[in-house]
Amino acid sequence: MDDCIFCKIVKGEIPCQKIGENRDFLCFLDIKPINEGHSLIVPKRHFRDISDFPEELERGYFAFVQEMARKIVPAVKADGFNLGMNNGRAAGQLVMHQHTHLIPRFNGDSLAAWPHKEVTNEDLERTKNKILGKHK
Ligand code: AMP
Ligand code: ZN
Repeated sequence: MDDCIFCKIVKGEIPCQKIGENRDFLCFLDIKPINEGHSLIVPKRHFRDISDFPEELERGYFAFVQEMARKIVPAVKADGFNLGMNNGRAAGQLVMHQHTHLIPRFNGDSLAAWPHKEVTNEDLERTKNKILGKHK
């Protein structure tokens, strides 16, 4: 992908603050961090999002995410961390090269949580049936 910013980072054409890498994956600091240590974990090959990510890389990917969390979270003395993945523009994906955000969290850092909707049990059942292909 010639004009993909993360492919350019992988190739070393654009600099990054590298935290770790192995044959298949790279982890670097987000340039606009939500909290200190906010990192992005990307496959070196270009995939658009988790929907086209190949199964044979999945275990290695999550093992690498875990390895990076064990490195980053204690280093910035975080109390916890979020893993986040925006898949598709509607979900807020701006860089169309699959990545996972690792966001260290600190007690009382007052980052807003997502708003929840009030729904009924019937609403939940209708949604479940939609997903499972059942019709009432
Ligand atoms: P997303 O909305 O999930 O696509 O997030 C893309 C993330 O990439 C944002 O948090 C940006 O701050 C980050 N980002 C964009 N360009 C760079 C870059 N050159 N180096 C590091 N992080 C970047
Ligand atoms: Zn790419």
